[in-house]
Amino acid sequence: MLGRRGFLGAAASAAVVVGFDPSSRMWVTGAEAAPPSAPSFDRMPPLDGQLVIDDAARAAVATDLGNIVHRKPHAVLRPGSAKDIATVVRFCREHRLSVSTRGQGHTTHGQGLSNGVLIENKHLNRVHSLTPRTAVVDSGIKWMDLTKATYAQTPRTTPPTLTAYTGLSVGGTLSVGGIGGLVGGLNSGLQVDHVRELEVVTGTGDAERCSRTQKPDLFEAVLGGLGQCGVITKATLDLAPAKENARTYALEYGDTAAFCRDLRTLIDRQGVDHVYAELFPPGTTATYKLYATAFFDGTQPDNAAITRGLSATPQITDAGYLDYAFTIDNAIDELRATMGWDRLIKPWYDIWLPGSTLENYLAEVVPTLTPRDIGPYGAGLIYPQRRSLTTRPFPRLPKADGTRWAFVLDINTVAEKAGPDPAFVEEMLARNARMFARARDAHGATLYPIGSVPFTARDWRLQYGDRWQAFQAAKRRYDPSGILTPGPAIFG
Ligand SMILES: Cc1cc2nc3c(=O)[nH]c(=O)nc-3n(C[C@H](O)[C@H](O)[C@H](O)COP(=O)(O)OP(=O)(O)OC[C@H]3O[C@@H](n4cnc5c(N)ncnc54)[C@H](O)[C@@H]3O)c2cc1C
Repeated sequence: MLGRRGFLGAAASAAVVVGFDPSSRMWVTGAEAAPPSAPSFDRMPPLDGQLVIDDAARAAVATDLGNIVHRKPHAVLRPGSAKDIATVVRFCREHRLSVSTRGQGHTTHGQGLSNGVLIENKHLNRVHSLTPRTAVVDSGIKWMDLTKATYAQTPRTTPPTLTAYTGLSVGGTLSVGGIGGLVGGLNSGLQVDHVRELEVVTGTGDAERCSRTQKPDLFEAVLGGLGQCGVITKATLDLAPAKENARTYALEYGDTAAFCRDLRTLIDRQGVDHVYAELFPPGTTATYKLYATAFFDGTQPDNAAITRGLSATPQITDAGYLDYAFTIDNAIDELRATMGWDRLIKPWYDIWLPGSTLENYLAEVVPTLTPRDIGPYGAGLIYPQRRSLTTRPFPRLPKADGTRWAFVLDINTVAEKAGPDPAFVEEMLARNARMFARARDAHGATLYPIGSVPFTARDWRLQYGDRWQAFQAAKRRYDPSGILTPGPAIFG
């Protein structure tokens, strides 16, 4: 129990939590702890940062980029150290309160929301050390900030795999997988495949170090583990040499067969470093736009060799490496400034397809899409991933099908206007559930769990397949009270 006067001075702001009253199950703040009639409560051990309960702080993290699920936490931790995370997780476990971690909150179906405590991890964002081969960083850092720091090294380096949008946190993408949106995929694995070591606070509040050789079960369970077994606080990441320039070849197609033929040619072509594609609903000028990029320093890429035998004529553009890597960030900044991007409803559909089913799936689904399925600010996207470079079990790629590739397909629907639209949400979530069931059952798809596909307990069991028991065992071991990250409702 609290010796009240003793720490009131430390709780300078009225909304800063000083303890928890187990009888009312309410947080107690500095202001409430002062009067002689104040409730008795368990004192929160001292923190380097702050645990706050003011409404503005809680409302700011009550939804994610999807604007579909709303869950206001009772308290928000602004950690000043990884030790704060351990302290608060232990305290929450004692009081049976749920805890979620928020990186940049860019999933779209409430994956990182919490009714209990929300750890606002963006406050832990330091680069601890850089060498030409590795970076040691706090997990709250954004990939963009890390990339700027690594590129400024001599020699220039880069994370080997970068998401298309780099304003995402290291901890957030390592918790889902991290596919190479603009860098990686052909010659590197997912971001989780380029992690050497992690520091993790488990659901028991213990701080652990893990790697492929040290506590490998924890390492496996947190990489692509959707925050179920621990909070990633620090990561040692691979770096790779970075080139100075990026040359992109953009090609348009109206026909699925020709598009897929050229896509498959380019992903195996010598000299091509990255490939992705956009898809559009029928009726637009092109159904597919394919982008292949070659990075280079002094010697220019051989255009004729790269585009040999393709059935479309490329438009060629050059950019500096960082301008290329931040293309989508610039586009999103523009939407944020002009369209209120953060507040638009985003019922995203994101799946992994086995290499052998891409053509059939596109032939089945693309003709059914209407402009509303993507919206004026949304995107349909296809990303190839070379399977032999993926090593981690929990980003659930489709079962091996004898091909060397898997593809992520996104139908990232965005509403036309900001503001609530329950009918649109209902329609799009039903679409996603229907499309996913068909994609899984007929085409062998798995979920890339960043979007808004409603999932039942059975869906989660099928998603983890032969890894389900290992995931359950890790959950029991590292989060025995089941307090971490309830958003996806994987374990009930
Ligand atoms: C414009 C845009 C482009 C994108 N492009 C790509 C792409 O190219 N490739 C790709 O793979 N993805 C892409 N994504 C999806 C993105 O990777 C995921 O939404 C990712 O989870 C977002 O990171 P975040 O920091 O916002 O994580 P959050 O949404 O904050 O968190 C994601 C999940 O991880 C948990 N979590 C967060 N931090 C931690 C931590 N430190 N420890 C444990 N659990 C944690 C959360 O509780 C939540 O369940 C894109 C998203 C957007 C909006």
